[in-house]
Amino acid sequence: MLNYNQITSNVITTAPRNIDDIADMDPVETVTLTCINLPEALIIIDCGANPEKAIQFRDKMEDHFEKRISHLILTHWHWDHSDALSVFHDVMVVISKKGAEKLKADVQVTKEFVIGSRGSEVFFQVCGGHSPDSAYVYYPSEQILCAGDNLISCYAQTFSNGKVTLDLYRSWELFDVKTIIPGHGFIVDKHYLINVRTYFEELIAVLKGFKSQGLDISQVLKHTDLPEYCYKDHSKWEEGGKRHTGWLNMGIKYWYSYV
Ligand SMILES: [Zn+2]
Ligand SMILES: [Zn+2]
Repeated sequence: MLNYNQITSNVITTAPRNIDDIADMDPVETVTLTCINLPEALIIIDCGANPEKAIQFRDKMEDHFEKRISHLILTHWHWDHSDALSVFHDVMVVISKKGAEKLKADVQVTKEFVIGSRGSEVFFQVCGGHSPDSAYVYYPSEQILCAGDNLISCYAQTFSNGKVTLDLYRSWELFDVKTIIPGHGFIVDKHYLINVRTYFEELIAVLKGFKSQGLDISQVLKHTDLPEYCYKDHSKWEEGGKRHTGWLNMGIKYWYSYV
């Protein structure tokens, strides 16, 4: 049985509200699919890699809102977010121009694409960071942000261009947002975003000190002065992080080579 969460009367997501509903899942199953209903459109954001799950979500959303899906927006081309694309062969597919080098899409966006009429628009914004083609979706009238993989809530973050991602966090903090749906995981709010951004800023400051002392990465990873990752004390998070990914250490290694 899938977890759907109704955030507002117009927004429904597969993301659960609690980490306990997701911690034991395989990472590919933690990808979030979200539906936004506008007067002139019915949008799905990311289709995941599991066609059965995508068909089920599509059918449920079309029944619930009593209209056909008009757009599929992909936050980036990574397979875990897009492999079920064939389920949406009959709708308008929107992706960044760079993402369109990897996937067939009807709308290839360089910077921004807007769906809906003034006052209730959905903004698709190309931002990079997690991958060069990454984008996010902002629905200001209902204070919702779909972050794509620039923000993940069930594991530590995964960086490609970390500086872009941290700048993105700072810009998102200025948005009027109540609900953030991450690329993977459970629904969060701005506090989560701020905690993640603060952690990495503290980490970078500490790593700069380690660098000046000439420590090697094995000394860094077990150093007691490393800041504690927010949510690291959550047993479910730690279990998921270890079992599936070890992404926290990956992040520390990434930033240590960056500083
Ligand atoms: Zn990704
Ligand atoms: Zn992903």
